[in-house]
Amino acid sequence: MSFDLALENGTVCTGDRLFPANVYVTGEEVAVISSIREKFPARETLDCSGLFLLPGFIDPHVHLSLNLGRYTSVDDFDSGSALALSGGVTTLIDFLDPVSSLSDFEKAKKSRMQTAADSRIDYAFHVTLAGSPGFSAEEIAEAAIEARMPSIKIFTTYSSSSRRTGDGMIYRLLSLSRKLGFVLLAHSENDEIINEISSDYTSPTFRELSSLRPTISELSEVAKLALLSLDRKGQLYVVHVSSGETIRALSSMGVDWRDFTKLETCPQYLLLNNEPLEGEEGYLNTYCPPPRSENERLLLVSALQRGEISSIGTDHCPFLVQEKSENRADYSKMPNGSGSLGLSFAALNTLLNGNLVKVSALLSENPARIFGLFPKRGLLAPGSMANIAVV
Ligand SMILES: [Zn+2]
Repeated sequence: MSFDLALENGTVCTGDRLFPANVYVTGEEVAVISSIREKFPARETLDCSGLFLLPGFIDPHVHLSLNLGRYTSVDDFDSGSALALSGGVTTLIDFLDPVSSLSDFEKAKKSRMQTAADSRIDYAFHVTLAGSPGFSAEEIAEAAIEARMPSIKIFTTYSSSSRRTGDGMIYRLLSLSRKLGFVLLAHSENDEIINEISSDYTSPTFRELSSLRPTISELSEVAKLALLSLDRKGQLYVVHVSSGETIRALSSMGVDWRDFTKLETCPQYLLLNNEPLEGEEGYLNTYCPPPRSENERLLLVSALQRGEISSIGTDHCPFLVQEKSENRADYSKMPNGSGSLGLSFAALNTLLNGNLVKVSALLSENPARIFGLFPKRGLLAPGSMANIAVV
């Protein structure tokens, strides 16, 4: 027996177990995991003494080469995937452009697949809906599943750019999600609250950005969607939860939301509060939802430690300093987004005090299970993909 690659003398961390082992790879798959004493010849052998081997991380929320009209997010699939690899991320899930018809969907699929062709790692896409779609919930769900993209993203806000999906469509999609086998991803902020508050500000300072999109606009919308999902026994995944208050409110509702609603947060909400918005370079910290108060950040970290968050996406969407800077006088023109792809492992390993079982669940097994990639990904075992993060 001879293998392509041997990773010997390391400690494997997969599922809820940590054990010393050698990992042997043939082609793209893990072939054998043996005890340390049992060794086999391989074309290339790496000594992993003192190192941990985890199933490669999955970042389920990135925006590479996202075309916003005036600007395009600066990392493409080549540079973005290199950055991902540097942090142990071996699978990315990006988004198709918003679609409002089935023919749009075919076009969006083709163009994003072409854009992604130079990725160094595995990738997939979520389908994104535009507002007032020209299809029924059944039609788009079936098209997405047939295209092997079983996750559909909706926005509850951005009516001004025609991306808001109404509650009726959300209700239908949640009703279908478990039966047909797809996940409904929701960017959850209350559109009307945000529009109402915006009219109070003619030119907000950067410090005021948190107030422009207040926590209650997130909290009220996430609570509503979680209740809808509970009622419909749906499969809901809330992207980029920014405030620990949102999760505290969910948990205080006294309903068992967790089987029907999974929560994602991002390294920037776990690590940063809204103080960087103050001062000279505040404009560089513009992303959506905005960073929150220190108290809300701490609540978010406790929710993470208690296991109330399922998955970490980075929402990686960086722009050049120049592109941010030339819009510093007018927030409404600012390209929103920041860069954190590849930072999730370091952030979580610190926040979870080196508990690799928890880190690996959040970065690998949970997103793999939620998005139908398990057990080929999210697991380190014979037959799984040889996507391995060595730390
Ligand atoms: Zn995003």
